[in-house]
Amino acid sequence: MKNIVILGATGSIGTQSLEVIEANRGFRAFALSAHSNIAVLETQIRKFRPQFACVTNEEKAAELKIKTADIGTKILAGTAGLEEIAAHPEADTVITGIVGIAGLAPTLAAVEAKKRIGLANKETLVTAGDMVMERAGQTGAEIIPVDSEHSAVFQCLAARVNRDNFDSEVKRILLTASGGPFFGKTKDELTQITAKEALRHPNWSMGAKITVDSATLMNKGLEVIEAKHLFGVPFEKIDVFVHRQSIVHSMVEFADNAVIAQLGAPDMKLPIQYAITYPERLSMHGNEPDLTKTPLTFDKPDFETFRCLPLAISAGKTGGTMPAVLNGANEAAVALFLNGKIRFLDIADLVEGAMCAHKTMKRPSLSQIFEADKWAREYVCAKLHTLH
Ligand code: NDP
Ligand code: MG
Repeated sequence: MKNIVILGATGSIGTQSLEVIEANRGFRAFALSAHSNIAVLETQIRKFRPQFACVTNEEKAAELKIKTADIGTKILAGTAGLEEIAAHPEADTVITGIVGIAGLAPTLAAVEAKKRIGLANKETLVTAGDMVMERAGQTGAEIIPVDSEHSAVFQCLAARVNRDNFDSEVKRILLTASGGPFFGKTKDELTQITAKEALRHPNWSMGAKITVDSATLMNKGLEVIEAKHLFGVPFEKIDVFVHRQSIVHSMVEFADNAVIAQLGAPDMKLPIQYAITYPERLSMHGNEPDLTKTPLTFDKPDFETFRCLPLAISAGKTGGTMPAVLNGANEAAVALFLNGKIRFLDIADLVEGAMCAHKTMKRPSLSQIFEADKWAREYVCAKLHTLH
């Protein structure tokens, strides 16, 4: 029986992880976390009876403790509670389904405790990729991607035999992007976009933040940085293609020009389950890909209209604290956009402004990364009154 910890159990990745657990006899929900949605967490606790549940909002944690007093689940609170469940000696696999840089500290705790990590929280690698990958190499923690593109690349690379010749054998990583709801639109057409329109993703059903990131293409930019750290390749070896059908989840091109791709339905349950069972594969029902959705098309992204993508690549190339600034400014700007406080195109302007105003610190410590994140959020708030 595998003990699974789900950080962010009430979110899109979290609830799909629970569906994977429910469908497999060999997996058990060992610990679950939420930030404030205790109504959904209580339902999950009653159904899955985990050993632990953690609510990062301390008041809500106290409320949940009273509501679930009749159940044996131990209720923890705050970020300390998150770190406790992520590093628990009885935990086998930790799925990181928390959104934003809030996922960094518990992921690091799981790395220190040498866990297998099903990594969905890409912001961890965007903000602190060097540190997290270095520590994982030292502790022996396994980081298996859950992000569908990276799971696809991971699956394509698993077909290789000789790991020593990685640099010469792997020519390029080709990340696919759906293009989001505004593919093909001009900048003029994007000026009046509302949050409701941005939240209407054509192929995937996800949390609000990543859905907006998909519409701005920031998501693909974050994924380029994520791929760089996960697979240890330079940015020059990572390309992005817009693939509207979301059937090819990503590809790897090898030295002899062979391109290996992973295809599947747009369903996160496959990469979640694979992160738990790797190197084995278990059967899965109901997510057969519709290969009649052909032709499969691949286009170059529009870097000029969707500026978040080149901004992210540039932040990644700069390194140090710059990706944390990009990420922090983006998290703050997306929250403002979702609250109707700024316009769609302001997101890229604010992120770019923060990046220009930031003096990069090389090889930052964890606290310097959190400082850079905080600085970027404050920058965005301070700039708010200068817009429009
Ligand atoms: P959701 O918004 O659906 O869920 C976020 C989860 O994180 C919720 O459980 C939420 O709790 C919790 N949470 C929010 N803020 C905090 C915080 N400050 N501290 C602790 N927990 C918090 O997000 P998604 O599931 O869509 O995305 C999660 C991560 O996975 C993101 O990093 C995203 O980029 C990545 N990802 C998601 C994919 C998807 O298909 N959804 C695909 C690939 C990657 P509560 O409900 O209580 O607020
Ligand atoms: Mg993805």
